[in-house]
Amino acid sequence: MNQIAVAIDGPSGAGKSTIAKTAAKTLGFIYVDTGALYRTIGLAVFRKNFDALTPDEVISVLPEISIKLKYIDGAQRVYLNDEDVSELIRTPEISLFASRVSVIPEVREFLLDMQRDIANKNNVIMDGRDIGTVILPNAKVKIFLTASDEKRAERRYLELCGKGIETTPQEVLNDMRKRDEKDSSRSLAPLKKADDAILLDTSELDLQQSINAVINIIKNATNAED
Ligand code: C5P
Repeated sequence: MNQIAVAIDGPSGAGKSTIAKTAAKTLGFIYVDTGALYRTIGLAVFRKNFDALTPDEVISVLPEISIKLKYIDGAQRVYLNDEDVSELIRTPEISLFASRVSVIPEVREFLLDMQRDIANKNNVIMDGRDIGTVILPNAKVKIFLTASDEKRAERRYLELCGKGIETTPQEVLNDMRKRDEKDSSRSLAPLKKADDAILLDTSELDLQQSINAVINIIKNATNAED
């Protein structure tokens, strides 16, 4: 009751997680990265080595899955059946699996209550694709964060290099476009700006400027003190 919810949606590589994480820390909110939930299901399914990856195959795995989010020193860790998979879910391969499983209604339903439950109990900044439109339609603040394809791919490439993941800028751009197309065109909970969301394009902003812009939007909307 009376918790403040901030929904940040947008395409991959727009900087949602980095920006939301820092803004949450500054404001004392919990940061919830909902992509990690879809990635965790993606990882569980990937490990099954299904040939075709049909919806029925994916759905058959759900009863075996328990996902928990824990906050250690303010950072979100995600657990798949008590195994900490926070790093394992970050590979380009699992990104694509996350996107593939996320079109399945049963998968979205499986994760719905968990996301709402966290927002009911905490002040949250929650990022994803459908937070402002489906998960938290009454969120106090909604931001749609985006940037040009090239900028987003460049940032994602540098992030993956930093994690020691081998890839090329072109591969990142191609994967990103594929994923955005899939996320935006699906019939269920597609990636789209909520009518009442504020559009923030970070193409020409550096990280600190983007963080400041998000914090300002939240403070203005919640009338928080400086
Ligand atoms: O945000 P991230 O890139 O980690 O998300 C991985 C994938 O999970 C997305 O490409 C999208 O398919 C899916 N996703 C979703 N809804 C969310 C968050 C992520 O469908 N709220």
